[in-house]
Amino acid sequence: MTRTTSQSTPAPQESENSDKLLSLDPRTGEVVGRYPVHGAEEVTDAVRRAREAGQWWAGLGFAGRKQRLDAWRRRLVRRLPELANLISTETGKPIDDARLELVLVVDHLHWAAHHAERVLRRRRVSPGLLMYNHAATLEYQPLGVVGVIGPWNYPAFTPMGSIAYALAAGNAVVFKPSEYTPGVGTWLADTFAEVVPEHPVFRVVTGYGETGAALCRSGVDKLAFTGSTATGKRVMAACAETLTPVLVECGGKDALIVDADADLEAAADAAVWGGMANAGQTCVGVERVYVVDAVADRFLDLVAQRARRLRAGGQDGADLGPITMPSQVDVIRGHIQAALDAGARAVVGGLDSVRAPYVEPVVLTDVPEDCAAVRDETFGPTITVNRVRDVAEALRLANGTRYGLAAAVFSRSRGEELARRLRAGMVSVNSVISFAAVPALPFGGVGDSGFGRIHGEDGLREFARPQAVTRRRFGALLEPMSFSRGTHTVRQLLRLVRLRYGR
Ligand code: NAD
Repeated sequence: MTRTTSQSTPAPQESENSDKLLSLDPRTGEVVGRYPVHGAEEVTDAVRRAREAGQWWAGLGFAGRKQRLDAWRRRLVRRLPELANLISTETGKPIDDARLELVLVVDHLHWAAHHAERVLRRRRVSPGLLMYNHAATLEYQPLGVVGVIGPWNYPAFTPMGSIAYALAAGNAVVFKPSEYTPGVGTWLADTFAEVVPEHPVFRVVTGYGETGAALCRSGVDKLAFTGSTATGKRVMAACAETLTPVLVECGGKDALIVDADADLEAAADAAVWGGMANAGQTCVGVERVYVVDAVADRFLDLVAQRARRLRAGGQDGADLGPITMPSQVDVIRGHIQAALDAGARAVVGGLDSVRAPYVEPVVLTDVPEDCAAVRDETFGPTITVNRVRDVAEALRLANGTRYGLAAAVFSRSRGEELARRLRAGMVSVNSVISFAAVPALPFGGVGDSGFGRIHGEDGLREFARPQAVTRRRFGALLEPMSFSRGTHTVRQLLRLVRLRYGR
C-alpha cells in the first residue's frame, strides 16, 4: 500500500487491523513497515521475560558482556548502510546525517562496553577513622530491567545512549521506540538477538504513547525516557505510582553566544549547522543566538550567506529533510508568525519557507525575548539572532529560560570562563554539539530539559545501584555499637572526635 501526500506528511497510523502500526516515509507518505501495537499485557510479559534473561546477562560478568557487545558493535558497523537507509526512510533525514548518527552510536557502544568494568566493579574504599577495623567495599550492581522510551529525531543515537550503557552495566532492556521510527528500534533489537541468541536480553515493544505508558507501569526497575518535556512529566507521574526511578531527557532551547573576539566565520558556520542540521530537529540544536553588538552586522551577513545556500527536500543531495512529525509544522509556522507580528525581521526566509513537509531555513533577528520563537522549542530549521550589549547580557538572556540542556560559546579569549557561567548540562566552546561525540562526557540537562545522565561514567552509574558493604576484620579498642559498651566508650570516642575534628 502506498500513500502520497502533497500538503503534509501523514502521521503514523493504524491500518485496517487496529493492532498494526504503519511506519511511513515522511517524504512520500509511503508505508515502509508494519509493526504490532503492543498492549499492557504484552509489555508486562516482555518485561517478565527480560527479567529472567537479565539474570543470565548479569551472570556473564563484565568480560562476557563486553565480548557480546563488541560482537554487536562489529555487526552494526558491517551493516551500517542498511540501518542508515532505514533511519533515512523512517525520518526522511539525508543519508549522510543518518550515517553520522551511526558513527556516534558505534563509538558510544564501544566506550560503554570497554569502561563498564572499571567504573562499576567492586572496589575497596577507606573505612575512615571510626571504622578502622572494618573493610569497606563499594560495587555498582545491575538494576534488573531498564525500560527505555525513545523519540524519532535521532532514533538510534538517542535511545542507544541509554540502551548501550544499561546493557554494559548488566541490565536487560525493554525498548519502546517512537511510533514514527519503530523499524529502527526493531532492527537494533533483532541484530542484538543475532549475537545474543540465548535469552531475550534486549526486547522491543512497539506502539503509541499507551504502549510507553504501559512500560512505565510494567514493573521495570528504571525508566529512561527521551522526548518532549510534556510527555516527560506524564512518564514521571506514571512511574511515581510504583516508585519506579526515572531518567528524563527532554527538550531544550539552546543558545549560542558570540563574543566580540570570536572567529565569526566559524561561529556563523556553527550557528547554521547547529540550528539547521536534521532540519532543526535536534534536542541540542542551536535555537537562539546572542551576538555582541560590535560584531553583529558582520555575523548576521555570514549567517545569512550560509543559510541561503541550504536546500530542503527529499532528493539526493538535499541539505535538510522533511519535518518528520507533521504536527510540528504548525508549531514552526506559529513561532515565525508570532515573531514577525511582534516586530522581528526575517533575514533569511519567512512564512513562505514553511511548505509541509519541508521547511526552508529561516533566520529571524530583533526578536522580542517574550516571543515563542525565543522561549519555546521550535524544532525546525529556524534560528533567532539577537544583539546584546556585551557578554554579560548574553549570559543573562541565555540563562533566562526554563530549559537547560546545552549551549555554545564562541570567544577567542574567554570561552571556558563563559561556559562555566551557563546554566546548561553541556557547553561547547568554539564549536557546537561536540560533547555528544565524546563518550566519556555525561549528557543531560537541568530544569525543563530533565535530569539524570546518559553517556560516560555517570551514564553507566545511572543504570546501576551502588551497594555498600562493610566487613568487620578484627575487634576494636572501642566498640560503641553494642549494649555492653559502657559509658567510658562513648566518652573516649568524644575525646577522639574533639581531637580530630574539633580544632
Ligand atoms: P514525545 O514526547 O512526543 O514522544 C517520545 C516518546 O514517548 C515516544 O516514544 C512516544 O510514543 C512516547 N510517549 C508518548 N506519550 C507517552 C506516555 N503518556 N507515556 C509514555 N510514553 C509516551 O517526543 P518526540 O516528538 O518523539 O521527540 C521530540 C522531543 O524529544 C523534543 O522535545 C526533543 O527536544 C526531545 N529530545 C530530547 C533529547 C535529549 O537527549 N534531551 C534527545 C532527543 C530528543
